[in-house]
Amino acid sequence: MQFENTRSFAQELDAQDNLHKYRSEFHFPKVNNKQVIYFTGNSLGLQPKRTKSYVDEVMNDWANLAVEGHFYADKPWWDYHERFAKPLSKIVGALPSEVTVMNTLTVNLHLLMVSFYRPTKTRYKIICEEKAFPSDQYMFQSQVDFHGYASDDAIVEIKRREGEHNIRLEDVLVKIEEVGDELALVLIGGVNYYTGQVFDMKTITAAGHKAGAIVGWDLAHAAGNIKLELHDWNVDFASWCSYKYMNSGPGNASGCFIHEKHHNASLPRFAGWWGHNKERRFKMEPQFDAVKGAEGWQISNLPILSLAPYLASVDMFDEVGMDAIIEKRNKITAYLEFVLQEIDKEVDSTFEIITPADPAERGCQLSVFLHGEGRSLFDYLMKNGVITDWREPNVIRLAPVPLYCSFEDMYDFGQILKEGIYSIH
Ligand SMILES: *Cc1c(COP(=O)(O)O)cnc(C)c1O
Repeated sequence: MQFENTRSFAQELDAQDNLHKYRSEFHFPKVNNKQVIYFTGNSLGLQPKRTKSYVDEVMNDWANLAVEGHFYADKPWWDYHERFAKPLSKIVGALPSEVTVMNTLTVNLHLLMVSFYRPTKTRYKIICEEKAFPSDQYMFQSQVDFHGYASDDAIVEIKRREGEHNIRLEDVLVKIEEVGDELALVLIGGVNYYTGQVFDMKTITAAGHKAGAIVGWDLAHAAGNIKLELHDWNVDFASWCSYKYMNSGPGNASGCFIHEKHHNASLPRFAGWWGHNKERRFKMEPQFDAVKGAEGWQISNLPILSLAPYLASVDMFDEVGMDAIIEKRNKITAYLEFVLQEIDKEVDSTFEIITPADPAERGCQLSVFLHGEGRSLFDYLMKNGVITDWREPNVIRLAPVPLYCSFEDMYDFGQILKEGIYSIH
């Protein structure tokens, strides 16, 4: 499609967009009395208007039923989490028994490493990406330390080549082969938080298995953003947060995936009563009998007030479907890329989009190097109603989230960006 950087063209794209109606289902912050252009749904998604009714329902049940709400609420609390299995499994490409919701992301990855990072004297190394999200780096260091290995030996980072912004698949595969018999675990962010690069999870998972290792994925920037086929890719385990593309509210509950092939294995795990045999849970017996499936990794009874917004979001995703989200995502991301290139020509500036240009290697995020532009441009954007995020040294990350961003937003953003550059220089 031949794009044009005009308001009428952008409005035409909005008119053709089947998801455009969802925009009005979200609360937008306002700046100068106008709805903002929100590019930080990769950090904290906007609040869907329907979410409040899900939370109110729990508050009302708690007020009216108190402890009886566990069994007699419309959505009883004791098995509230089971409502996620079906819709969430479609979002991540899994069987319903392979997914569950619990805890928060880094906590879940730690717990999953209890089961899936079981180093031996000879096979103890972890492969991850260079400059992984800091929480993941601290997690790796503390896990390796906990098991008594030195982190500079046990943690192997895949590096970018000199002068390149993204990690090459071939370099991942070479590293996996090189570490070979010493490799215990491959655990990478499926979508890099900084560059927006999407890794070829299918190929990397197969390569890790060939080397005899377990392969897990941190899907913080992937869930609700890209097409996942976790079951078919034969991924061992994965976890994601729900507050980025999944719009479930600050710090909210995490989802996790454990492949069916591990459901019968007696893997070590840190257990709690919510992972115990459901029929016998309230008999308060001493002998732990894990529920078969991902639910068997549950520990505590669940924070229903935090699951309520997540359920609202999962219901919305189920209604829309990932295919429709991805179709719009590709188009709006391409349009944003086009607008950036057009503005770049006009202002003779030097933006450099460091996210891969190939739609198969990116989701809903463009990370843009603003060469020669300082933080003042970012501040100008914020003051003028464009919410982006700034990463050192001078990268802004832009996520045109398909559920609530419009094509006209992209056009408006381009104009504000241009005015900003003129006004600063
Ligand atoms: C956002 C993010 C996290 C956040 O972890 P929490 O435990 O939810 O605070 C972790 N890893 C990656 C890759 C992320 O992008």
